[in-house]
Amino acid sequence: LYVDSPLAEGQTVGLDHERAHFLRHVLRLDRGDPVAVFNGRDGEWLALIDGFGKGWCSLTVEAQRRPQDTVPDLWLVFAPLKKGRIDFVAEKATEMGVSRLCPVFTRRTDPNRVNMDRLRANAVEAAEQCERLTVPELADPVPLARALADWPEGRTLYLCAEAGIARPIAEAMRSAGSSPAALLVGPEGGFDQSELDEIAKLPFVVPVGLGPRILRADTAVVAALACWQSLAGD
Ligand code: SAM
Repeated sequence: LYVDSPLAEGQTVGLDHERAHFLRHVLRLDRGDPVAVFNGRDGEWLALIDGFGKGWCSLTVEAQRRPQDTVPDLWLVFAPLKKGRIDFVAEKATEMGVSRLCPVFTRRTDPNRVNMDRLRANAVEAAEQCERLTVPELADPVPLARALADWPEGRTLYLCAEAGIARPIAEAMRSAGSSPAALLVGPEGGFDQSELDEIAKLPFVVPVGLGPRILRADTAVVAALACWQSLAGD
C-alpha cells in the first residue's frame, strides 16, 4: 500500500477515507492485521492496523521488509489520450518500470487537458499491484515544443514514428547504448508532418519504428516499452 508519510520503526501512519475503506471493506482487514506499506523512499515496511475510525485508519510501522528499489531512468513522453486509454498507459508504463510520465500536447492531441489526480491514482495503483517501491514522477503537462526546448542534456529521445524516417527500434536502441532515455509516442491522430520533421531533426532525437502496422497509441507505448525492457534488462 502506498502511503505519503515517512516510514521508520514505531512510526504512526494515518490513512485517508479512501484507503481506510479499501483496507476495511475491500481487503476485509481488521485491527492487528499486517499491511505492507511503501512511500517511494524508505523501502517496504510491515505495518499493523491500530484501528479504524469514521473515514480513517491508523497503522503502526513495525519492520522493514525490503530496502528501497530503483527503476530504470526511462521517461515516457506521451500525448494524452481519452479516458480509458490514458488510464491504460499510466498503468502499463508503471508496471514496465517507467520513472517519469510526461504528458505533452501535440498539434493533434485530443483531449486538451489531463486529469493529473486520475493519472497519479492509476500510477499508484499499478505500483502497488506490481510491487515496485516507487511511483513514477508526473511532469506537468506542457506543449510538446516546450518540453523539447527544455530537454535535458544527455537524454536520448526515441521518437516512435510510423513514417519512413524511422529505424527498427531494437537496432536503434542497441546502438545508442545505455544513456538516460525517453520514449515519445504521438496522439491517436498521429503527429502533424511538419511537427514530425521538426522533432526528427533535433540532435537528441532518434526516430524508431515498431513494425509495419499502425498501432494505436496505447499499443505503441507498450510495444516500445517491451522492446526497451528486453534490451535494458530491467
Ligand atoms: N493516424 C496516424 C497515422 O495514420 O499516421 C496514426 C497514429 S498512431 C495511432 C499513434 C502513435 O503511435 C503515433 O504517433 C506513433 O508515435 C505511434 N505508432 C503507431 N504505430 C507505430 C509504428 N508502427 N511504429 C512507430 N510508432 C508507431
